[in-house]
Amino acid sequence: MKVTDIINDEKPSLSFEVFPPKTDAVFESIRQATEDVAWLCPDYMSVTYGAGGGTSEYTVSIAANIQKRFHVPVVAHITCISSTREGVQKQLAAMKQAGLVNVLALRGDIPEGGNTPGVYAHASDLIPEIMEAGDFCVGCACYPEGHPDSPNQKEDIKHLKDKVDAGCSYLVTQMFFDNDVFFNFLYKVREAGITVPVVPGIMPVTNAKQVNRIRTLSGQNIPPRFRYIVDRFGDDPAAMTQAGIAYATQQIVDLYANGINAVHVYSMNNAKVAGQIKQNLSCIVK
Ligand code: FAD
Repeated sequence: MKVTDIINDEKPSLSFEVFPPKTDAVFESIRQATEDVAWLCPDYMSVTYGAGGGTSEYTVSIAANIQKRFHVPVVAHITCISSTREGVQKQLAAMKQAGLVNVLALRGDIPEGGNTPGVYAHASDLIPEIMEAGDFCVGCACYPEGHPDSPNQKEDIKHLKDKVDAGCSYLVTQMFFDNDVFFNFLYKVREAGITVPVVPGIMPVTNAKQVNRIRTLSGQNIPPRFRYIVDRFGDDPAAMTQAGIAYATQQIVDLYANGINAVHVYSMNNAKVAGQIKQNLSCIVK
């Protein structure tokens, strides 16, 4: 099933993201963790892809396993900046053979030192190739607070339109912790003539370390309301988990209440967190 059929539906949908193993040694434990998330029967799941190519085969095998065993539609991520054309084509052929029809087309982070094969510069370069390889439903990433490489938001949205014009049929946002940031972004995206669905991505933050990592790596704005939660509960893992899940749940309820029908949750192989969020929304997401 194509993900656009799910997110274009008026019924509120909830999806979860998982990551694949990095090595054979942890394959079984990670596969089990992704299956524990699949047991929750989300509307769809997505499986990330290692920018260095290290987890490329695992992305397909984890995605195919979820789809085959649990009948949960899956989106397989693919990045291109560190790839050759042959590598991308091989990956797409493996996805096709595994019956995967949904792909999230990404550039990936530029590796330290900037050394890349130089075949692909942006996610938009990847889209025509995916569409040529099969009848894939192609999604892309977007950044309500602007991508860190972008000089400003206007420029970033201009390039976002390039991705949609190239054939991307829906967008998933980077995490954000203030829904107003998302609604302002959505307004600007629509003003720029981008009409495809924009799925907000919500990260349940369940430990204080995550907050520092988010600040350093992606520079997301942490609103005072959330900072106070971390200040108060950051040293108490159980309390922080409960408060982080409650905060994410509130964000999701507010998004649904304001007309957003599809929400993606970065619960990242944590079935307990994903399950609690789904439970909190049990009468909203059926
Ligand atoms: P692009 O769309 O190529 O944009 C990157 C930058 O280039 C932006 O600043 C953009 O404005 C600019 N740009 C785009 N086109 C042009 C152009 N034609 N000319 C000049 N500038 C241009 N990373 C992983 O490694 N694996 C994953 O599985 C993964 N999943 C993700 C899922 C989501 C929902 C999100 C939001 C991010 C994900 N990432 C993942 C991170 C992502 O790879 C990085 O954020 C990366 O730096 C940018 O990828 P992109 O596809 O958004 O790039």
